[in-house]
Amino acid sequence: MTASPLLAELTAALASGAVRVVDLTNTLSATTPALRLPEPFVNLDDFSLERAAAFEPTAPMWQHNNFRMGEHVGTHIDAPIHWISGRDGLDVSQLDPARLVGPAVVLDFSAEAAENPDWVLEIDDVRAWEAEHGPLPENSWLLLRTGWDQYSHDEAQFLNADETGSHTPGISASCAKWLAEEAPLSGLGVETVGIDAGGAGAFDPPFPVHYHLLGHDKYGITSLQRLAELPATGAIIVVSPLPIVGGSGAPCRVFAFVGA
Ligand code: MN
Repeated sequence: MTASPLLAELTAALASGAVRVVDLTNTLSATTPALRLPEPFVNLDDFSLERAAAFEPTAPMWQHNNFRMGEHVGTHIDAPIHWISGRDGLDVSQLDPARLVGPAVVLDFSAEAAENPDWVLEIDDVRAWEAEHGPLPENSWLLLRTGWDQYSHDEAQFLNADETGSHTPGISASCAKWLAEEAPLSGLGVETVGIDAGGAGAFDPPFPVHYHLLGHDKYGITSLQRLAELPATGAIIVVSPLPIVGGSGAPCRVFAFVGA
């Protein structure tokens, strides 16, 4: 192990502002939006913070809290064992950190999603993006920008549900299969509440991003923010989930290193 000139250069770039750290994470509070499954499915607990003690005889010089939340609330990662197709795969504590840090590529379809909340990414869209920006890099994270983070302060707008279900953008079944089987990704990140489109329960297979990605040892992160601050290529993403033993997912802080 020796000192790396590359890391010295990065340190200097961070100090000078030539490289910035962008926080892609939504905050956690009682109002953080979460998935709402219909009957008869079980829903997870929202985030809650409970004061244990603060500056009182049982904690005279400090304050500290307990929190409670579902694994899949807020900005979080889906591990392979989350889905039936990946049930024999890794839990969230077993994910290789080398796969959680890598090149970020941003595909911006916010105009399309503004036009049609049920818009889905197709293979041809990725091919067109590659024609302009080059092939998806090894160990990369494909970040799908839809502008949906603008609704994350309001669960009703974020979930955009009516009597026909939730209407939020995502990825087609054929594109999900292709990304899982053909693309050199470590994972996929979205701005919406889940890695699948709002209407993906009606796709074949249902929830195809979950089915294909998690079944191919690729990971998903949701509820990302501020993808607008990232370039199409050239940023580095750092995904750091809590290493919950046996966890099907976990809240995670997600950062990007971005050139100024
Ligand atoms: Mn999840």
